[in-house]
Amino acid sequence: MEIKIENLRKVYSGGYEALKGVNLTIGNGMFGLLGPNGAGKSTLMRILVTLMDASAGDVFVNGMKLTDHRKEVRALMGYLPQDFRFFPKLKSWEFLDYAAAMAGVSSSRERQMMVDKMLAEVGLYEVRNRFANKLSGGMKRRLGIAQALIGYPKIIVVDEPTTGLDPEERIRFRNLLSQLSQEDVIIVLSTHIVGDISSSCNQMALLNKGELKFAGAPDAFIRQAEGHVWSINAGFEEMAVIKEKYQVITSIPSNEGYSLEIVTAGSNAPDRNDAQPVSPNLEHAYVYFMESEAND
Ligand code: ADP
Repeated sequence: MEIKIENLRKVYSGGYEALKGVNLTIGNGMFGLLGPNGAGKSTLMRILVTLMDASAGDVFVNGMKLTDHRKEVRALMGYLPQDFRFFPKLKSWEFLDYAAAMAGVSSSRERQMMVDKMLAEVGLYEVRNRFANKLSGGMKRRLGIAQALIGYPKIIVVDEPTTGLDPEERIRFRNLLSQLSQEDVIIVLSTHIVGDISSSCNQMALLNKGELKFAGAPDAFIRQAEGHVWSINAGFEEMAVIKEKYQVITSIPSNEGYSLEIVTAGSNAPDRNDAQPVSPNLEHAYVYFMESEAND
């Protein structure tokens, strides 16, 4: 599978430019689209799943132009929107049965087998007779992903799937998604949570204010922050000045003050004798990119 996005632009009716010419190629595996709220992630995803048209530019799926092959492309896709709603009057299994029918499975026997298998895969078989709106937040997300997966799509698009989940549910959800990223399947996951990307994605991009700031492997993203992450010790009275100058990532109190990890955007080493370089992680790199942007 391959998704190719070329010069994609979206200007909303009020004139707001939510995507400013995005170019991106997504290959098999798990792709994480990272960016702060308002970056344009949902806009990009809604265009990908053909719910909305771009103002300019093209998307190709396996070489097929999206706008010319909506039906074929839709048949390949499963989508979990950010604000997914359930029909409150349907039980979990009925909801999936309906989703399977929508995905084109006409035989009720086939649907039943599919639904039972999917309920087991997402760990909801025990609650199959519970009404969808009576499930816990984490269970609702899993039912949401189950409906996105029911026709075994080749491209799975999930928008901010871990928002509002507790840490345990979040890990469960990520593991479920990474199990699905088998051969010849693309999973596109949007998130503003760095941990969602570091734990599961082999490809990522950073979107900010409608512009793509990075696309590639998470390792390459992290490498760009090398030389910009430092640990320092600071006295209580220095904190205000330090916060003014650097992005403080961690601050652990000690007797004399704080032990800090800081990110320096423009200049490299902080002007301090005790500064020790720290090997960056994805969170550092994200802060580094966002800081560099803010300083531009
Ligand atoms: P993200 O998913 O990264 O939070 P969105 O794609 O939802 O970002 O939104 C990007 C920007 O476009 C935001 O500033 C948002 O307010 C704006 N936007 C989103 N949908 C609409 C719309 N229907 N009309 C006008 N502006 C919109």
